[in-house]
Amino acid sequence: MESQKKHPRTFSFEFFPPKTPEGVQRLSTTWRQLAQLKPRFFSVTYGAGGSTRDRTLATVLEIKQAGFDAAPHISCIGSTLADIDETLDLYRSKGIRHIVALRGDLPSGAASAGELRHANELVQLIRERSGDHFHIEVACYPEFHPQARSAQEDVRNFKRKVDAGANSAITQYFFNADSYFRFVDDCEAIGIGIPIVPGIMPIGNFSQLARFSDTCGADIPRWLRLKLAGFGDDVASIRSFGLDVVTDLCDRLLSAGAPGLHFYTMNQAGPTSTIWQRLGL
Ligand code: FAD
Repeated sequence: MESQKKHPRTFSFEFFPPKTPEGVQRLSTTWRQLAQLKPRFFSVTYGAGGSTRDRTLATVLEIKQAGFDAAPHISCIGSTLADIDETLDLYRSKGIRHIVALRGDLPSGAASAGELRHANELVQLIRERSGDHFHIEVACYPEFHPQARSAQEDVRNFKRKVDAGANSAITQYFFNADSYFRFVDDCEAIGIGIPIVPGIMPIGNFSQLARFSDTCGADIPRWLRLKLAGFGDDVASIRSFGLDVVTDLCDRLLSAGAPGLHFYTMNQAGPTSTIWQRLGL
């Protein structure tokens, strides 16, 4: 963890772009509430093949116009080089200087994988086209990406993104702090020195979390899975226990020197604000 302790702490909140006018209104209230916590930046996800591009951009611009830093995500899978260039030009023309660069996942039935196969190629392209204009965040996986050929290979693939010019990284969420500590040590051992900010998923809805974790390769430890499952439909108990567990996790990570936290807010202010207050941030 030594290389991580030297970085200043960065706190950030992630949203997905709403689909309906009501969703836009709700998110507007949510981000204004979370803005009071003074995060370093907000980020807004991006659908494969650019399916959410306009909504992602609209959300980012709404936040930026109020004076806060907001970073759109961009993914390369299912997009042509021309599509990616167009999106980068659009982001630049709107004064955006901070992005989260991802490969993304192909929706089932998608016709084409696009022209770039991996996120390191996207980072390289962004640097070729825009030099140092953007601060580039990339994703990494303390419990390893589900398609990785091996744990070691996944860390080496993460390094390709750093070598291509990524400035900092945000992890997939996890509930086992040791997986993060070990991962950071593995990264340090192969010369990765950029900040690796833990991604934090507040626990709200157990069945949704379990489904999502299975696909993205995040492990819900047996004790946690069984405890949450045991609450059945008792949403209040799931939330209250989830808040205890996730607050403890954040506390351990920060105490050990993690360079901040990135919250997957699911467009809700409540759980993230409660964890924030309990941590005394
Ligand atoms: P990559 O870094 O390309 O890695 C994908 C897989 O390929 C890994 O198994 C890796 O080991 C392997 N690999 C990488 N490079 C190479 C190479 N050069 N040669 C061979 N193998 C390689 N998805 C979205 O669609 N939209 C979003 O907005 C979004 N935001 C996210 C934000 C965060 C913080 C995180 C953690 C994930 C996000 N995702 C998002 C999900 C992400 O797109 C998926 O996890 C996707 O499967 C991998 O994306 P990546 O950028 O990590 O890909």
